[in-house]
Amino acid sequence: MAITDRVYVKNHRSLSSSMDRNMPRNVFSGAALDLLYSTDELEKVDAASRDRLLEFVADFMTCGCSDAPYCGCPERGFVEYLVDLRRGGLGPEAMIDAMEQDYNLYAYEGDVYDFLDTVVRRLEAVEEMADALGEHETREEARRIRREVVDPASGG
Ligand SMILES: [Zn+2]
Repeated sequence: MAITDRVYVKNHRSLSSSMDRNMPRNVFSGAALDLLYSTDELEKVDAASRDRLLEFVADFMTCGCSDAPYCGCPERGFVEYLVDLRRGGLGPEAMIDAMEQDYNLYAYEGDVYDFLDTVVRRLEAVEEMADALGEHETREEARRIRREVVDPASGG
């Protein structure tokens, strides 16, 4: 299961009761993206939650694809955001705190660990493939990112 299937809206029940619509727990579910995309309903929730959710919309849902927000850009953007948090030196617990402070979202620590494992394995696969194809720059880039994800303190 992708990490984006396991990122949740904080207080989704109380947000739902502030709005006239159900805010699903998973922020990347179609219904939640739909609700966020038409930001009118967000006017009705408390200012702190609204500002953070609008920040989410601004950061991940402004790609302009014709099939937005179902184009995959929000998910890709959020995965990049998580990888950047990790490369910036945060552990899973601090990453979860950042998600909450930035976007009113949360995830479970075990799922964030799984996500980081998956990222490392995918980067290893990219390195191997790039190596086989003689794409040395790609290989080095993947290796550098992988090292930063495994051990952010190493600085690459
Ligand atoms: Zn898009």
